[in-house]
Amino acid sequence: MKQDGIDLGRRGFLIGRRLARPEAIRPPWSRAASVAAACTGCGACVPACPQNIIALDADGRPALTFNAGECTFCGACADACSEPVFDRSIAGFPHVAAIGADCFATRGIVCQSCGDACPESAIRFRPRLGGPALPEIATDRCSGCGACITACPAQAISVSGRPLEAAHV
Ligand code: SF4
Ligand code: SF4
Ligand code: SF4
Repeated sequence: MKQDGIDLGRRGFLIGRRLARPEAIRPPWSRAASVAAACTGCGACVPACPQNIIALDADGRPALTFNAGECTFCGACADACSEPVFDRSIAGFPHVAAIGADCFATRGIVCQSCGDACPESAIRFRPRLGGPALPEIATDRCSGCGACITACPAQAISVSGRPLEAAHV
């Protein structure tokens, strides 16, 4: 019985995780908490973005996608917002780029598109015997701009939480 309870709990936990929506990427200098607390859903930041990477999510709050372009940190979204959603005293994004297992180089195909695209020179390629050099992200240099995500032909790059020691502003 006890075992069933544990299994059910675990199953419920796994189902819950599976059904949970992925956490949205909020515009730079905003955070989930400030968006939840202060964003009215007016949408003013959406047309303000010259990169067209902001859209309102299912809850009517701004979310970024890096599929079509990167954030240039132009500040237009923050300038367009009349509520206390943005705080330019904090790091732009709470995330850094992370390279996944689908990377072409990992699979033996030469590719350095992410390194070419990175404006911070945060991606270096580590040579290895028997295969193409592998990309590595210097998280202390990564701004989280998403240029590498846009450029990656394998769609192998996502974002993950910024390590505490990496404080790119
Ligand atoms: S800082 Fe500029 S490019 Fe980045 S999301 Fe805001 S408006 Fe778009
Ligand atoms: S652009 Fe994508 S596939 Fe190419 S090296 Fe970078 S992570 Fe790998
Ligand atoms: S998110 Fe931007 S700064 Fe970070 S590695 Fe990718 S391109 Fe470079």
